[in-house]
Amino acid sequence: MGLAATLETIRKTIEDVKKNSPLASPHPLIMGASKGQDASRILEAVDAGLSCFGENRVQEAEAKFPAIRERFPGVRLHLIGPLQTNKVRQAVALFDAIQTVDRARLADALKEEMAKTGRTVPCFIQVNTGKEPQKAGVAPEEAEALAAHCLAIGLPVAGLMCVPPHGQPPAPHFAMLREMARTLGLAELSMGMSDDYEAALRMGSTCIRLGRILFGERPPASGKDAA
Ligand SMILES: *Cc1c(COP(=O)(O)O)cnc(C)c1O
Repeated sequence: MGLAATLETIRKTIEDVKKNSPLASPHPLIMGASKGQDASRILEAVDAGLSCFGENRVQEAEAKFPAIRERFPGVRLHLIGPLQTNKVRQAVALFDAIQTVDRARLADALKEEMAKTGRTVPCFIQVNTGKEPQKAGVAPEEAEALAAHCLAIGLPVAGLMCVPPHGQPPAPHFAMLREMARTLGLAELSMGMSDDYEAALRMGSTCIRLGRILFGERPPASGKDAA
């Protein structure tokens, strides 16, 4: 299936889920997870009607997106990979949302940079719902304290994000994230990838992050990333 046809199928799934699932969000965002994809492939997706992309690495995003956004200023870019504090300045300048805030020190650095530049970038707290040691994200039991810290320093937090463990049913993780967001009074739920986006939509996802289903299988990653 071509990219445009796939996107059509996904849009149809969204409509079907909305009819059958009371928790479904009315207008979930479809994000193209474009790590490893070159600019021509991303432009193909823009042509097919996709306007939001997620990148895992600041450097890769910086190499690809300024030229794309020069041509298509409506294109939005989210960071969905781990952020080091020494890249906060670049990240705040480049991204329209940062979905991977997982520690107070990073929140502090982001707030400081936003205050300095006057640029406000909505953030998500990434929660390691499966408590996997190798995975980024704050532990579920520490999420509330991190959210309180963000609130105290005035960091704009829009919602929560998670990547459930491989090989486990994802629904309990989505349900956990949903419940945490409700408790914290946060509206956005970034959850659902190629293999589980339908389950995430049923649980109220407001942002599905799709890589392989849109772009095809990736070549093996050369280094580590969030997934
Ligand atoms: C790569 C990636 C995705 C997309 O994963 P697919 O399984 O290819 O859809 C989503 N979220 C994050 C954080 C990723 O790193």
